[in-house]
Amino acid sequence: MKILLHMCCGPCACYPVEQLRSEGFEPVGYFFNPNIHPHEEWRRRLKTAREFAAKVGINFFADNHYRLREYLAKVWSVVDEADTVQYRDGWHKRCGVCYAWRLSEAAKFAAENNFELFTSSLLYSRHQNHELIKKIAEHFANVFGVKFFYEDFRVGWQAGIDLSLELELYRQNYCGCIFSEEERFSNDLRKARKKFFTSPEPPCALL
Ligand code: SF4
Repeated sequence: MKILLHMCCGPCACYPVEQLRSEGFEPVGYFFNPNIHPHEEWRRRLKTAREFAAKVGINFFADNHYRLREYLAKVWSVVDEADTVQYRDGWHKRCGVCYAWRLSEAAKFAAENNFELFTSSLLYSRHQNHELIKKIAEHFANVFGVKFFYEDFRVGWQAGIDLSLELELYRQNYCGCIFSEEERFSNDLRKARKKFFTSPEPPCALL
């Protein structure tokens, strides 16, 4: 049975594709990730996702339009002062908005192209809000009349890394958006986050 696999990138799709195939599915890749900044990085990840699909022999579709302004317009309303560090439970509000856009497009694409099932390589990452992804995907499955296939692909974390290295895929070192790029490379932000998480109570401004 065919299943649409929303691919956040090539490396994160390695284990899910292998696992889905072992369960008898025929995964078909779908790339829709306007969260990735800057443009050059988006192109690189798209190229890698395409390259991965060709190497492992799966069909692949991509939204080739880079929608920077739309993405920023969507997340900006929830990017406030507290966004400079992670919230006490470890997650940014903007990630919910980001998941919702990508997963709603995946569910819509699945419905419009006669897939009964869809899933996402976001479920592979240890760095994402797994439960929220599941909840949002189930919501949009209902909205578009398709089924969301849930599996905790995080169990294949190391196997996915090994496979991506074997396939010589480009492996990025930040999540995707411009905010996550800053979080990854800014020393000031890293210090602020460390202070936040080690303080007995978060500073009021961050509540
Ligand atoms: S950190 Fe990742 S999931 Fe969160 S908003 Fe940025 S790109 Fe999206």
